[in-house]
Amino acid sequence: MTPSIYVHIPFCAGKCPYCSFPVVIGQEQREEDYLCALEREAAQAAPHMKMPVQSVYVGGGTPSLLSHDGIKRLSAMILRHFLVDKCESTMELNPESVTPDKAALLRSNGFTRMSFGVQSFHAKYLAYLGRQHTPEDGFRVFKVLRAAGFDNINVDLMFGFPGQTKHELDEDIDAVLSLGSEHVSLYALSVEPRSVFCVRGEKISDDMQGEFYSRVCERLNQAGVLQYEVSNFARSGFESVHNLNYWQGGEYLGLGMGAHSHVAGERFWNADIFPKYLDMIRDRAVAVVGREKLSAPRKMMEVFLFGLRMNAGVDMDVLERRFGCGLESDKVNELENLIEAGFLIEDEARVRVTDKGRLVLDEISARLI
Ligand code: SF4
Repeated sequence: MTPSIYVHIPFCAGKCPYCSFPVVIGQEQREEDYLCALEREAAQAAPHMKMPVQSVYVGGGTPSLLSHDGIKRLSAMILRHFLVDKCESTMELNPESVTPDKAALLRSNGFTRMSFGVQSFHAKYLAYLGRQHTPEDGFRVFKVLRAAGFDNINVDLMFGFPGQTKHELDEDIDAVLSLGSEHVSLYALSVEPRSVFCVRGEKISDDMQGEFYSRVCERLNQAGVLQYEVSNFARSGFESVHNLNYWQGGEYLGLGMGAHSHVAGERFWNADIFPKYLDMIRDRAVAVVGREKLSAPRKMMEVFLFGLRMNAGVDMDVLERRFGCGLESDKVNELENLIEAGFLIEDEARVRVTDKGRLVLDEISARLI
């Protein structure tokens, strides 16, 4: 399997209260320091990744806050250190920080795919989420990206806001479909540990979430934006190469503050505190603060659970050949119970999650891990 590269850009204009990602607020003037650190980290790590990579993903944070010079430097750094010819190359954007010039610059600097966080087309829910953009920005930026030549665009859509009605959900789905994006990533609002919502004890009812989730799946599928993973939908041929690599247990190198990697059977992760990351890179050119090596059965189970997230399911024969072992006997029993209860289905050697199972995938994973 060829590896992927992830680059984390931690800058954000403000902290959204539902967010638990490693970010820094109001530090954009440190862009130069951060890009120097990324360059140093990439130079140190790149010799271990000499094969062509299948995807690059620049996430955050808000990568679209980078200056024009910053985007050029980042792009040159990736090209200098990694074999990225013709690979899928994605950047995450927030609508308020995208201009026609910036979109054109991203296109001319090798990015092939844009992913932007619309979340909702209702101003009251954008305000609740602490987003800095308006519903109109979502429509505007989509046109700007198309005009810049991007023919592979993902839109993030969120649902499950307190008080959200089915009619409002349908309006958001209508708006997404009217854009005609190639890919949609769907998120149920949740209270994440380390988020502001968590700190202030926000309660989010999940009574409607299953029904709303089913509604979005049904409508996107009917419109030809087909579900291929529990939270991801694409027009045929536009499935995310980068995310498929994660879900298939492939290798990836993460660069930047808080980035995680999976290389040569080992997982490791970087410091997720901005000054600590910069100091460690300055002193040693690495910022790794934790490592773990999984046993073959544990790794197999992890890839199996990731595989259940995908509509294609898991080919058990392929999995067993890849890891040289089968599922442990207590897991096989649990699997049979889940199949009998209608949460999973087995046809020939493939195991897939059913529609009923998809609604409780976290519980299924907890029973199998
Ligand atoms: S949700 Fe996105 S924009 Fe908001 S704080 Fe988190 S990373 Fe930044």
